Amino acid sequence: MSVRENVRHLIDTLEISQLLSLNEFEYIIDNADNSDVTYLGEKAEKVKKENYGKKIYIRGLVEISNHCKNNCFYCGIRCANKNITRYRLSKEEILERCKVGYELGFRTFVMQGGEDVGFSDEYLADIVMEIKKLYHDCAVTLSVGERERDIYQMFFDAGADRYLLRHETADDEHYGKLHPHSMSLEYRKKCLFNLKEIGFQTGCGFMVGSPYQKSIHLAKDMMFLKKLNPEMVGIGPFITHKDTPFKEKKSGSLEKTLLMVGLTRLLLPKALIPATTALGTIKEGGREMGIKMGANVIMPNLSPNNTKKLYNLYDNKLATGLETAENLEDLKQQIAKTGHEIVTDRGDYNRGGIENV
Ligand code: SAM
Repeated sequence: MSVRENVRHLIDTLEISQLLSLNEFEYIIDNADNSDVTYLGEKAEKVKKENYGKKIYIRGLVEISNHCKNNCFYCGIRCANKNITRYRLSKEEILERCKVGYELGFRTFVMQGGEDVGFSDEYLADIVMEIKKLYHDCAVTLSVGERERDIYQMFFDAGADRYLLRHETADDEHYGKLHPHSMSLEYRKKCLFNLKEIGFQTGCGFMVGSPYQKSIHLAKDMMFLKKLNPEMVGIGPFITHKDTPFKEKKSGSLEKTLLMVGLTRLLLPKALIPATTALGTIKEGGREMGIKMGANVIMPNLSPNNTKKLYNLYDNKLATGLETAENLEDLKQQIAKTGHEIVTDRGDYNRGGIENV
């Protein structure tokens, strides 16, 4: 068989069996060309539509703090970055953003931030409780990093429904090249399994094209996804940030990110997969391309205008135009052009059968 035939045969096998071996994933990642990505996209779209129809779910993203105790080498809000104005939203500001979001039609609020020791866990739990009290029909997602199991349990008991914690890379050695010694992949994975056990709809995920990444690392990401079986998977290109140790490194590619999104859709047919802001940042229209590759979630920015620019994870992060929650009507029109429809229900993980299109 030719390389093209081999790659397509493996894509067909993945569609049917929802699994490949590590080496088979590595083979696809090493050899897929643009025509294979198009081929994969058609299959990914078919599988997505069998599970979620044409629906694209929206989440209002509130970036609650850019303080972080961690020092991840790739991230613009790392604690060693002194060229950044730090902020922390108050409870009132967060509730105000939820109010605005609710009126716009959002039924999921995602509170994301650095690992900010200035936000006590009890205070966060209290905010979750308040949001759930005010908006019974809404889901609350937290994305505030690593915690001990009992703290995750407290967040869950307060009413949080979902938790996003990207594993970043499933290879130990590679993880060590992206993070300081104080952080470990083992603990990050432990956190993810704890979140699943507690009952959160759990999201992991990884960057594509991060420094020192090899195809085998991405293949390992696929194997880890199968093992964890998360409800959500966030995949975005690594993008350089000028005030980090990786300032000279190249950003990840659009094509490879799309490839990984498509493979993830075939691997986990029911997963909620966002078309990430990073995808839209490396290429105009990148989010729409993600939607056509099997993604089914968009997370418009619901943060206050004066802090949007300060949550600067990477250079040129989109924070205006269709990225902002206030421009939802324009986003709806843009997404309609891809043959999808933005809906405003909570958009929970589909644990049941096939949805009608
Ligand atoms: N502190 C929480 C955590 O660790 O999950 C949430 C905030 S963290 C900044 C959110 C995500 O941003 C990370 O999981 C990482 O994948 C992504 N990120 C950070 N720096 C990035 C970069 N330079 N390029 C692309 N994505 C980046």
